[in-house]
Amino acid sequence: PEIQELIELDKKHYLHPTTVPKLFQEKGPKIIFQEGKGIRVTDVKGDTYIDGVSMLWNVNLGHGNQELAKAAYDQLSTIAYSSSFYSYSNPNAVRLAQKVVSVAPGDLSAIFYTSGGSESNDTAFKLARFYWNLKGRKAKKKIISITRSYHGATVSAGSATGIEAFHNFAGSRDIDIINARGHVTNCELGYKTDSNYEGCIRDTIEKVGAENIAAVILEPIQGAGGVHVSPDGYLKAVKELCKANEILLIADEVICGFGRTGKWFGVDNWDVVPDIMSVAKGITSGYAQLGGVMVNKEIRDTLNEHDQILGHGFTYSGHPTACAVALKNLEIIERDNLIENAKNMELVLKNGFEYLANKHKHFTKPRAIGLLAGFDLQANPDTDTPFEQSIRAASFVVEHCFNNKLILRAADFEEGKNIVAIAPPLIINKEEVEEIISIVDDALTAFEKTL
Ligand code: PLP
Repeated sequence: PEIQELIELDKKHYLHPTTVPKLFQEKGPKIIFQEGKGIRVTDVKGDTYIDGVSMLWNVNLGHGNQELAKAAYDQLSTIAYSSSFYSYSNPNAVRLAQKVVSVAPGDLSAIFYTSGGSESNDTAFKLARFYWNLKGRKAKKKIISITRSYHGATVSAGSATGIEAFHNFAGSRDIDIINARGHVTNCELGYKTDSNYEGCIRDTIEKVGAENIAAVILEPIQGAGGVHVSPDGYLKAVKELCKANEILLIADEVICGFGRTGKWFGVDNWDVVPDIMSVAKGITSGYAQLGGVMVNKEIRDTLNEHDQILGHGFTYSGHPTACAVALKNLEIIERDNLIENAKNMELVLKNGFEYLANKHKHFTKPRAIGLLAGFDLQANPDTDTPFEQSIRAASFVVEHCFNNKLILRAADFEEGKNIVAIAPPLIINKEEVEEIISIVDDALTAFEKTL
């Protein structure tokens, strides 16, 4: 009865992100989480699931970590919150800044704190525009993003997001953001499709004029769009293109950052140093709301040289409790060699993928960089032929896995795309990865029987 009450109250008073409210009214919540331990979560009914996507790619240390809980408790009971406005500061925010700068690539040398990824990207755009303003280049305010990117849901971050429902939600967006309608996998939709992977961005720069463009934003590996890995050479080419045109490169490391890809940051896989880097999610493993924007020395120095106010900030910028959790989180990632573990588990996942590819003819394009992984389902992988729209292969597989107590994620919002994403907590071990593969194996067999 208590569960039924929760369901009814949920339907009545709670508006959920990324649901169709009308459908939600019919079905109610799919699951009501109660507790978690390691890679597993238990719902109010007592059913336990493997969290195969670390919730929203963020619970990198897994659930129920008592050290993180204690770090939060200790800070909450000392001084839970203090402001970082008006030159106020706190030790945790300072120590965390020092720590993230020490692990960040190249000359990224300062951080501006936010409460999450969307705020980070909005902040990145503002700082990029502010930088050019200070340089006397006020026309440089456009931001270029690419297809299937996900950068968040605030007005500017949502506009940069290439997924249509977010990009132009309710017909409103930041008109200084241009989605280049091209993609790392083929730079399609009317732009160059040859080996110039950066063609779509290049074409947009040519059309709009570099003198009007502040920055290009990219995820080193796209997450929500379907785990699309930048081809080798792509990020470097975009970086050079940006440099030649005096455009800043923003790396959205909200998913990739802090060990997810088997390196500290996604860009480290290709040794590219962005001018600006957005972080969130994995910085606290989801145990507190925190994000940040890192800027390079040139931007940092330029801000220091002028006397304009940095007219931007959030109540929770530099939140002492969130920063305490982040510091402990990063300490554990290093102490327990979790970045190395992500790299090792990549191999176990890839072995599993090989097994699935040999057994299931619709399974294709497996990819894993660290513990950011996915695969496609296609009618005919040999000819790159998608299923017709009515066959929701990815959704079927994800639903089947859910019924077998494994939470995964489908990316099938785009016509003909059937992608399944896998991104378990970085603490996962070999047996647990194999358990995931085995549940996926069963789901693929069940799917094939429906055809
Ligand atoms: N950027 C990326 C790459 C993301 O995956 C997300 C969230 O999934 C965001 C930004 C937005 O972060 P938040 O939901 O914390 O605002």
